[in-house]
Amino acid sequence: MTSGVTGKPARMFNNMENKPVNTPPVCSYEGSDYQARFWDDANRRYEDTVETVALEKLFNQGGRLLLELGAGAGRLTERYKNWERIVLLDYSRTQLLQARERLGDSDKYIYVAADIYKLPFVSGLFDGATMIRTLHHMADSTQTLHSVRRVMAEDGQFLLEYANKRNLKAILRWRLHRQNWNPFSPEQVEFVRLNYNFHPDTIAKTLKITGFETLKQLGVSFFRANWFKNNISHERLVRWDAKLQNLAPLKGYTPSIFTLNRAMGSSPIPEPGQFFSCPVCAHALPETKSSQVCSQCGHEWQYSEGIYEFRIEPEV
Ligand SMILES: [Zn+2]
Repeated sequence: MTSGVTGKPARMFNNMENKPVNTPPVCSYEGSDYQARFWDDANRRYEDTVETVALEKLFNQGGRLLLELGAGAGRLTERYKNWERIVLLDYSRTQLLQARERLGDSDKYIYVAADIYKLPFVSGLFDGATMIRTLHHMADSTQTLHSVRRVMAEDGQFLLEYANKRNLKAILRWRLHRQNWNPFSPEQVEFVRLNYNFHPDTIAKTLKITGFETLKQLGVSFFRANWFKNNISHERLVRWDAKLQNLAPLKGYTPSIFTLNRAMGSSPIPEPGQFFSCPVCAHALPETKSSQVCSQCGHEWQYSEGIYEFRIEPEV
């Protein structure tokens, strides 16, 4: 898939101590027809359905406030029906406009354009978070997961999906010398600029060091190859996938892995009314449904067309 790649390293506050650090470049879908091209037009019904099956198995609980990281055009948002409020966060404003068209304006949905490395929320705000098909675009998974952990409440549930480099197709290609990277080595592979596949052991370690305990894991999308889609019915592939998702050791060798994690340790409890946090200086900001100026650093944060703008250098 193609996507606009923009962004420069910038300073951020992404850990419990709110220390500024440098962040990697961002992969943006700004102006992209990703939803129409990738999900609506292409033959992706199988992936969409088996992801829903995995979500129902792992993440069917509800809660108070859910952060949907990389929400895009809101393809999955309505599946989180047991949550009181949902923040849809994406780097691309145009994706969020499509999500808003789909879901409408209400108190339930909050649309936020922001960089995951510089999440614009006070620490400990969310009791749930999901990140599906998004870590795939993050050059630094450790910084990413640190940033997510910072905004989560103690014991918050975090559903993380990632692309697995150690999948059967990659192993076969490696064995046949048709691929120059080793699917068993721990480092991530960047197969297209800002598109990464990860080793499951590396993600497991990263989750642990960033303050998450993995509770469950499922392997998803066993039959992604076109041969299966062209020769076997959709219903049968979904049935097979659903049965295999929890089958060890196969579940560690699928192209997509879903993990359910718990935020370990303690988290700050936000003061009543605190919601956003300035991505430049980390000062707490209220949820206003209007543009606002940070009283600490003077940066103006825009709100328009129902979307909060918290990107430091937004694209035109
Ligand atoms: Zn500020």
